[in-house]
Amino acid sequence: MSYVKALKCRECGQEYEKVAKYVCEFCFGPLEAAYDYDKIKKDITREKIASRPLNIWRYRELLPVEGEKYNTLQEGYTPLLKADRLGAELGMKNLYIKNDCANPTHSFKDRVVAVASTRALELGFDTLACASTGNLANAVAAYGAHAGMKRHVFIPSDLEKGKIIGALVYDPNLVGVKGNYDDVNRLCSEIAGKYKWAFVNINMRPYYAEGSKTLAFETAEQLGWVAPDQVVVPVASGSLLTKIWKGTQEFIKVGLIADKKMRVFGAQAEGCSPVTTAYKAKVDTFRPVKPNTIAKSLAIGNPADGYYALKTIAESNGGAEMASDPEIIEGIKLLARTEGIFAETAGGVTIACLKKLVESGALDKDAVTVAYITGTGLKTQEAVADHLREVKIIQPNLEAFEASQLQPVS
Ligand SMILES: *Cc1c(COP(=O)(O)O)cnc(C)c1O
Ligand SMILES: [Zn+2]
Repeated sequence: MSYVKALKCRECGQEYEKVAKYVCEFCFGPLEAAYDYDKIKKDITREKIASRPLNIWRYRELLPVEGEKYNTLQEGYTPLLKADRLGAELGMKNLYIKNDCANPTHSFKDRVVAVASTRALELGFDTLACASTGNLANAVAAYGAHAGMKRHVFIPSDLEKGKIIGALVYDPNLVGVKGNYDDVNRLCSEIAGKYKWAFVNINMRPYYAEGSKTLAFETAEQLGWVAPDQVVVPVASGSLLTKIWKGTQEFIKVGLIADKKMRVFGAQAEGCSPVTTAYKAKVDTFRPVKPNTIAKSLAIGNPADGYYALKTIAESNGGAEMASDPEIIEGIKLLARTEGIFAETAGGVTIACLKKLVESGALDKDAVTVAYITGTGLKTQEAVADHLREVKIIQPNLEAFEASQLQPVS
């Protein structure tokens, strides 16, 4: 049974059947899942949720699928860690890290692909596909394999080795396109129009995007059924940021948490900052850019939900920041050194922006703050490889060890 009434245009409100469709025929606005919140409010309780397995499906009433047969690798319910050491360095008292590296393919994309692939199976698709900046490729390849589906994965050809191998191992048809993500996405929109494939982030986007809400749900549950005061979220297409906001509003709407003014902050790389640049220029539309950053997972120059991300930031009285490549590397190292978490470049962006937002006074340093770490550093090792200490190679004896310790640490 589903609590989704229809797909609904975000702009004109026109409703559509719950099929693989993502744009409005009347105004070209994006479609979104529309729920029966009154019914959900009657049926859902904290106790019911708490009694279910520790994965994203514990929030099933607020996810856009019909049945209870999920394509799952047990994604979600990742750790929410109180980050006291990092907090101390930044002068923050109530800082938390939501560590989404702890997902089956080590990024938050497992949430969105679990939902999109489950819905694709319900709609009778036998082929899963995507246009990816990297992590989505890994998740689609893995979840497609798990469901026994055919899988076509499109990426920019210059991705990190860890992301390429992390997709290839699941044996998809991996296509490296000579161009950036925006070129890949344009090509895939064309392919999606011709082949009957479930492109998770194109024709399945209304379902896919809903999976990101589970990060907000978990955060509230893990904080003891209360929303944070402020959150810092990395922005690529802008979908994750808007859905963390939507998920929190839904939890309030169905009575699971008290109303709260949560502030949402976006984090981008300087080399691809259409949303942050628009925010800082105080305009409500962004200008597309040509990406040039080590944060390849966030390198979307023409973000599909950039406009809504800006709206969410404004509505929540939040903000946006950007980080240079050296700041991204420092951010990765800072998080690893203080909290023992090795994040990918997108995590470096989040931590670097968190730091800058605290220093500028945009973030309240005493408020309950959650920073979202969305992918693992093991996939982007080349970003930090040349910025770490060297290994000390020694002979296997005590003298050699002690002599090696006399050398200064660089
Ligand atoms: C895809 C991705 C994001 C952001 O996703 P959007 O919803 O497109 O904004 C953030 N972090 C990582 C590591 C990602 O792979
Ligand atoms: Zn419309």
